[in-house]
Amino acid sequence: MSEDRNQNGTQEEICYVCRRPESKAGKMVHMPGNLCICNDCMQRAFDQVGQNGFPYGMNFFGEFPGAELFQEQEAPKKQHEKKTESVPAIDIKSIPAPHKIYAKLNDYVVGQEHAKKVISVAVYNHYKRIASKEQQDDVEIEKSNMLMIGPTGSGKTYLVKTLAKLLDVPLAIADATSLTEAGYIGDDIESVVSKLLDNADNDVERAEQGIIYIDEIDKLAKKRNTTNRDVSGESVQQGLLKLLEGAEVEVPVGATSKNAMVPLKTVNTRDILFICGGAFPELENIIKERLNKSSSMGFGAELKDKYENDRNILQQVQIEDLRTFGMIPEFIGRLPIIYTLDGMSKEMLVRVLNEPKNAIVRQYQKLLALDEVDLAFDKDALDAIAERALKKGTGARALRAIIEEFMLDIMYEIPKDDSIGKVTITKAYIEGTGGPRIEMRGYAALEG
Ligand code: ADP
Repeated sequence: MSEDRNQNGTQEEICYVCRRPESKAGKMVHMPGNLCICNDCMQRAFDQVGQNGFPYGMNFFGEFPGAELFQEQEAPKKQHEKKTESVPAIDIKSIPAPHKIYAKLNDYVVGQEHAKKVISVAVYNHYKRIASKEQQDDVEIEKSNMLMIGPTGSGKTYLVKTLAKLLDVPLAIADATSLTEAGYIGDDIESVVSKLLDNADNDVERAEQGIIYIDEIDKLAKKRNTTNRDVSGESVQQGLLKLLEGAEVEVPVGATSKNAMVPLKTVNTRDILFICGGAFPELENIIKERLNKSSSMGFGAELKDKYENDRNILQQVQIEDLRTFGMIPEFIGRLPIIYTLDGMSKEMLVRVLNEPKNAIVRQYQKLLALDEVDLAFDKDALDAIAERALKKGTGARALRAIIEEFMLDIMYEIPKDDSIGKVTITKAYIEGTGGPRIEMRGYAALEG
């Protein structure tokens, strides 16, 4: 075991990752192989699993012990090295049929059936289109750029990340609100391409088959009643047009802004798949207004307001609604595939907690299994977590913070006692009115 002497001359445990002794880093969590890890490093490891998504998360647990996996800076690089060796789940050179892509997405993404279906077909067509480029003929297949509309925490970014991992293509995620017309303060529009090139390790060919996700696209809506030049809204939509369609752009290598000192590479965006996403908060009212208007004409007049309580109203979105919202027609025209994601219901949140291959509950179970402790969640405990998350109104985003809050004590206390064989998280524990159910090895259950 990693140990040191403290001022009193007694033996002290040392964190295997940050090398701080127990007196500085606090109580250690014990791992197999006589390793001690402090709570800060443990937390960082969890955060990293969250950020890097599933393959990295799975490797992290699968390969423990291995301190290098905790190291923040080196982790993404390692991930890439692995990527180049491993076989992608979906090979873009011989892209499988849409139902197979759907099945892979299904392993990770809960619900959102329509979105998964649309994406599977679009991705299939996109990479088929790239593969068929060599066969010259008059029919040119349109690019499958997409517009994803869905509330916060419904899985927009997660879907794109999952897709890019499965396809093993580079991904750049940009926030539309940080983009401005070239020459103004902010990232210029082409910076999204340099980000992609960067994530492709400056391999132009790989970058040209990658995915660019632009989040918060709704924030680029044309501002009404303004006479000022709109450098961060409508002009950015204008500026994105040529990228979406396909253009050769010169991007700096290893930097986001062009200057004389930085070498440039030319990237053609023709085969880059652009996915734009946003919550479009006022869109529901625009759709309702249109539907009510059309139903209040002629015989349908009595149906006015029948859409008021329709939860799935967003699914009825049409291009004219997006125009009313403030997206310019040329921009929408370059995103031919438009679909919506459902808001998270309590049932979906419970499924997000434990169904996906990399579900957060499974991650904790695997971690405790290393200490030979079983972790279980009562059904009503999962419901209580989902209910809490629902109240926060940020969809599935709230889940991780909630679960981490009370798992910290479990992760801290349980490894102290070798005789604990099973911990069950109860509803009472989540609600703060009781403890988890603890079962000792070879004994009956105790209420904690
Ligand atoms: P959005 O981009 O729509 O605001 P995110 O994709 O960032 O939401 O979702 C936040 C987190 O919630 C994701 O990292 C993922 O862990 C989880 N999540 C969201 N939706 C789903 C889903 N449909 N299935 C599984 N996990 C999900």
